[in-house]
Amino acid sequence: MKILHVEDNELNRKLVRVLLAPAGHEIVEAESAGEAIEKLREAPPPDLVLLDISLPGGGLTVAAHVRSRPELSGVKVVALTALAMRGDRERFLAAGCDEYISKPLDARTFASRVEELLLRRNNGSESV
Ligand code: MN
Repeated sequence: MKILHVEDNELNRKLVRVLLAPAGHEIVEAESAGEAIEKLREAPPPDLVLLDISLPGGGLTVAAHVRSRPELSGVKVVALTALAMRGDRERFLAAGCDEYISKPLDARTFASRVEELLLRRNNGSESV
């Protein structure tokens, strides 16, 4: 599977690379909303976007972009963020994210969570 990881923090990018390495996915990285939108122009589109919310240009800009493009309709968007205030999950979902994983990432469960999301996408069944 192809995964686009949008994250401005280098250590967080490295952590996700390490945690997902055993599964052998192709991981493409972007450090800003602008860079992510550029990467989304490349074919084939990613199966999954792992999206930091606090980054240059704003993560939700990327979610809105994905949802505005018919050719990206099969792309699953998962917000990764430390913001965990009441109502945030609803705000992310309203902005076009399919799911939300809170930071700090749980190293024991993150990879299996991602596999589960990819599987759900392939089955074309429900999102959250
Ligand atoms: Mn960030």
